[in-house]
Amino acid sequence: MRKCSLDSINKIFGKIAETNKLYLPVDGSDGVAVYTKWEEGKEWSNALNTVRSPKDFFFPQVENLMEFKTSGKNIELTDIREEAEDFVIFGVRACDVRSFDILDRVFLTDPVDSFYASRREHGVIVSVACSKPSETCFCQTFDNIDATNPLGDVTAWKTEDSVYFKANTEKGEAFMKKIESLTEECDDTAVAAEKDKIAAIMKKLPLKDLSADAFGGGKTDTFFNVPEWDELSATCLGCGTCTFVCPTCQCYDIKDFNTGNGVIRYRCWDSCMYSEFTKMAHGNNRLSQKERFRQRFMHKLVYYPENNEGIFGCVGCGRCLAKCPISMNIVKVMKKIGGKVNE
Ligand code: SF4
Ligand code: SF4
Repeated sequence: MRKCSLDSINKIFGKIAETNKLYLPVDGSDGVAVYTKWEEGKEWSNALNTVRSPKDFFFPQVENLMEFKTSGKNIELTDIREEAEDFVIFGVRACDVRSFDILDRVFLTDPVDSFYASRREHGVIVSVACSKPSETCFCQTFDNIDATNPLGDVTAWKTEDSVYFKANTEKGEAFMKKIESLTEECDDTAVAAEKDKIAAIMKKLPLKDLSADAFGGGKTDTFFNVPEWDELSATCLGCGTCTFVCPTCQCYDIKDFNTGNGVIRYRCWDSCMYSEFTKMAHGNNRLSQKERFRQRFMHKLVYYPENNEGIFGCVGCGRCLAKCPISMNIVKVMKKIGGKVNE
C-alpha cells in the first residue's frame, strides 16, 4: 500500500495526465459533479458521486458505428470508429465499479461488442471508497459490493489529509509504478480505520436492511401479474430519466443518418420506458406504460439474475431514487412487491 498527501494529489493527476487521458469527478458551475478530463486547475470533487454514471466511458450515449454509400446494387462500407486510447477513470465508487461487471456480461458475451471491448481494454479504473455514503445508497443489498473496499484496477481511500492506494490488477500495478516517485510506502492502519468509519455509517443508513432475497431467477411467474404494478406505474411519466442515470441500463437503438454524401449508422442509448422502445414492423408488443415500467424492474430483479448466475441488474447507487420526477424507484418496487411475497 502507498500514500500521498491530499495536498499533493494534483501532482499525481499531472503525472498520470502526461501519458494518459485522465477523467475524474469535478464540480461544474451548478455544483453538480461531472466526470471531466483533468487539466491543470481542475479539482477532484468532494461529492459522493456524479449524476451521470461512468458507464459513458465504455458505452457512450451516442457513437458512430460505420459509414456506407450505395451506388446501384453496390454498397461501400467504411469503418469510421475512432481508435481507443489508454485512459484512466479516477474516483469511481464501489457501486459503479460493479456496474461494469454487469455491462461486461452483456457486451463481452459472444458476439462480443468490439466497440465496448476496445474501451474496456484501454481503460484503467481507480476506485475510491465512499467516505460519506448517502441516505439513498443501498449497495450493501447486493453481493460483492463493498463501499469500504471497492474493486477496480486500483483502490483508493481518501482521508482528511491523505490518499491511499492499493493495486488489484496488472493494469493497477502499472498505474502504481507511474506514481511511485510521488507516493510513499505505508501500512494499512489508516485505511483500516477509514474502513471502520465507513462501515459504521453504512450500518445507520435508512436502506441498510433492504433485501433482494425475494427476487432472482425463476421468479417471473411470481411477480409478473401481481396487481401492485398498476399502482406502482400509475404516475410514471415514461421520461426515461431512471434509465439514463442508471449505471447498469444498457438498451440502445441503432439509427441511420443521411449526410447527403452517404449514410452514417450510429447507436444511441434507448429506454425501455419509452413508448416506441419495442416497436417493430408489426406494431408494439408493450402497449401500456405499466408493461414498460414492469419490464424495467423485472429485468433488473428477475430476468438479468436468471441469465447471469443470480447477479442482480442493480447496484444500489441510488441515482434513480434521487432523480425520478415522481419519486418512483426500484426500492419502492422491491418493498411493495418483494415484501408482499415475504409476508
Ligand atoms: S420511473 Fe420515474 S424516472 Fe423512470 S420513466 Fe417513470 S417517471 Fe421517469
Ligand atoms: S436501478 Fe436505480 S439504484 Fe439500481 S443501479 Fe440503476 S439507478 Fe442505481
